[in-house]
Amino acid sequence: MNDKRKIGVLALQGDFAEHMASLRKLGAEALAVRLPQDLESLDGLIIPGGESTTIGRLMVSYGFVQTLRQLSQDGFPVFGTCAGMVLLARSALDLLDVATIGAMGIKVRRNAFGRQVDSFETLLSVPALGEVPFPGVFIRAPIIIETEPGVEILASLPDGTPVGAKQGNLLVSAFHPELTSDLRFHAYFLDVVSRGARSQ
Ligand code: GLN
Repeated sequence: MNDKRKIGVLALQGDFAEHMASLRKLGAEALAVRLPQDLESLDGLIIPGGESTTIGRLMVSYGFVQTLRQLSQDGFPVFGTCAGMVLLARSALDLLDVATIGAMGIKVRRNAFGRQVDSFETLLSVPALGEVPFPGVFIRAPIIIETEPGVEILASLPDGTPVGAKQGNLLVSAFHPELTSDLRFHAYFLDVVSRGARSQ
């Protein structure tokens, strides 16, 4: 499962350093992506958690949105966590004035848990990762409220709310696997990357 692939982490704002550390622990090469030309020669990209309106505005000013929309449609593997999930979604409630990449067939609600319960941890059942539950760290997290055909739900809260999904080359989680020592979600993304490479 370990991999020497080159994975970029969008480093405009948010917790990109933690994602880079998780990728390196798995033996992948992790590169900070600050400009669209940094995407060249990468095997995949992670869009981290942070503030989706801030990351979204910076993505527009640096010219990332169209490029990433096209790359995602062409099969380039992208993993969006939390704010990154919001930016990959086809549409997001309450995203103010920011254009999203819009590549993944999900509709999300930002800050879905409100101020009362804005951060929490819970064990998630993620069948694709095996029987051991995954530690879900939620910080002002979004949820998935609609899915288009072809979207596979990977993780749900105990009440059934979807919080992780996959659609071909695209992977999203409302929670933060990079803030845990459990590397299975990143390893799963590296598998998506390797599978894409094999089918090219
Ligand atoms: N609430 C943030 C947003 O929607 C996401 C929070 C996070 O990434 N931890 O932008």
